[in-house]
Amino acid sequence: MPLCVQRWTLRRLDDAYKAFLRRLKARTGKAGFPRFRGKGCWGSFGFNEFSGIRFDGKRFRFRGVPGGLRVHLHRELPKGKICSCVFTRDAKGWSVCLQVRVEAQEKRSVSTSVGIDLGIKVFAYQSDGVILPNPRVARKAERRMRIRQRALARCKRGSNRRRKVKAELSRLHRKITNTRSTWLHQQSARIANSYDLIAAEDLNVKGMAKHPTLARSIHDASWGKFISMLSYKAERAGSTFITVNPRNTSQRCSGCGEIVPKTLAVRTHSCPSCGLVIDRDHNASLNILQAVVGLGQPNVADYGKRAARNLNEATN
Ligand SMILES: [Zn+2]
Repeated sequence: MPLCVQRWTLRRLDDAYKAFLRRLKARTGKAGFPRFRGKGCWGSFGFNEFSGIRFDGKRFRFRGVPGGLRVHLHRELPKGKICSCVFTRDAKGWSVCLQVRVEAQEKRSVSTSVGIDLGIKVFAYQSDGVILPNPRVARKAERRMRIRQRALARCKRGSNRRRKVKAELSRLHRKITNTRSTWLHQQSARIANSYDLIAAEDLNVKGMAKHPTLARSIHDASWGKFISMLSYKAERAGSTFITVNPRNTSQRCSGCGEIVPKTLAVRTHSCPSCGLVIDRDHNASLNILQAVVGLGQPNVADYGKRAARNLNEATN
């Protein structure tokens, strides 16, 4: 066993203990002592340092091991040094994830900008009026999932049948994950490539996912994943990605800065002081954009006045 693999495993053990100690210190609920996991629970191993292995674009060659491991690349590797790799096993087979160090792209000058409001009814509303419908991947597969889960529950433990049904279920899980992540990749790439400045809310997804009735929809939407994709894709494309304080983005009027209180059920924003009537999410996306435009300073609390000033300058 190469030394690096052992180091990688030790690092994961260290992570588990660090997380345990952190939870212990924070005193929020159960600390959860790290469990011993049987060999069936392990789905991955990796190399922290890329030494003792070579990759020539087709095969992995390990030092001291004859032959090589054929790899099917699903896209071209970017130019740069490979720093680490992780081998993962899932329902279909093994895959390897390579980490490559590349030079940072130079920032583009800002001429196009967009604010993005994430939601459940529609996945995202852009401040220029473009709407991304919610794909609701897991919701759509719910029935198929239920049927397989029931079949699994009927199987005798340790039987061949149970193993087969379990594999079928994990294939379905994999299918759902892949469909969702493909969609997220495509949408975030489109946004990162077509705008120079991208503003989104700084969401507390973990806190929101505790919502009694919306939790499942929030998980299914994967906002957190979308935001992280946007941020790294923007960096790669040379555009600027900024998150803003989500406070009052849906309540504030994007036309005059007045606070117009409304519940989640109210889908239209109509302002009594300036007469602006637009979709609730569109209003929020405009607020998010106005929080950054002109100043480039995220998390500024008093952007209501500035929003009004910016609008005045734009109309005069
Ligand atoms: Zn108004």
